[in-house]
Amino acid sequence: MDIDKEIRGYALQNAIRYNGRANPGSVIGMLLSKHPQLKSKVKEIAQKVNSIVKQINKLPLEAQKQELSQEFPELLEEKHKEREIKLQPLPGAVMGKVVTRAAPNPNGPIHLGSARAGVLSFMYAQKYKGKFVLRFDDTSPKTKPPLPEAYKWIIEDFKWLGAKIDRVEYASKRFERYYEVAEELIKLGKAYVCTCPSEGWKQLKAQGIACPCRALNPAEHLKRWRAMFTKFKEGEAVLRIKTDLKHKDPSRRDWWAAKVIEQPNHPITGNKYRVWPSYNLQSAIDDHDFGITHIIRGQEHTQNEMRQRYIFDYLGWKFPIAIHHGRIILESGGLSTTKTRELIE
Ligand SMILES: [Zn+2]
Repeated sequence: MDIDKEIRGYALQNAIRYNGRANPGSVIGMLLSKHPQLKSKVKEIAQKVNSIVKQINKLPLEAQKQELSQEFPELLEEKHKEREIKLQPLPGAVMGKVVTRAAPNPNGPIHLGSARAGVLSFMYAQKYKGKFVLRFDDTSPKTKPPLPEAYKWIIEDFKWLGAKIDRVEYASKRFERYYEVAEELIKLGKAYVCTCPSEGWKQLKAQGIACPCRALNPAEHLKRWRAMFTKFKEGEAVLRIKTDLKHKDPSRRDWWAAKVIEQPNHPITGNKYRVWPSYNLQSAIDDHDFGITHIIRGQEHTQNEMRQRYIFDYLGWKFPIAIHHGRIILESGGLSTTKTRELIE
């Protein structure tokens, strides 16, 4: 095989795809995927690729196109063919009754993973003549502060992807409802307000031991809960869901459901609220309230689902049917910001 010639072909193909500038890394990737045995000689190959890419990048785009079509017609890009997409049947789906949702955090433009779950969600809603809800899970002003512009971007992107959005919801506008459910859980003895210092709490949790707050009666916890709106400062009190302190997965043990944030500076609600629901509390309540029948999302949400199930069980709600899809692996080998940026450019 004439490696130099093959490299030249890939470099031309890559250059044409990216406006006349080939990327040596992509060319090496192409070559190694065709000839895995070259991996042992990658240093040598990289040198060759660098020098050939340099030559190619000096050529005008037109010359690159001409050479590719004359010398490497097999590498001319095929136009993307329209493909019919067949969706597998959705378990438990009833025609006309399916409600799906996409629930992105508007802390930036929608990423590929959320877009994919979203597309599947609205396609299924369409297939079963149901409804598709776009919900902004925008209640983490400290760790994932929402970007004001992103709300609009995400709606536009979903429309661009072909979604018919039946309902747009904002978690940040539903705080009164989260408070109502939190109180209900406290009254049922299924949630409590913990005022232990966080380090001490973590140590107890690691050993599966209850903190002194846990056994106090609901009336005391209601008092503490109300004090979270007035008296307790950030970090001084946390609402926790009672689960199983001996659970083999420590992240499931008495997970936090609400905490105080004094200066949230939220783009929609500013500093109106100081008690903030956790993602898991918010998402569980919203999925129930909006009548979501099917949740389609990435595998990374399995842990959250396990936490949210406690809320559904305690309140006698029916958990939606959840379907987790795997991760997407891009041709370039991942979703690193640098690599993604290169590809976008
Ligand atoms: Zn405590």
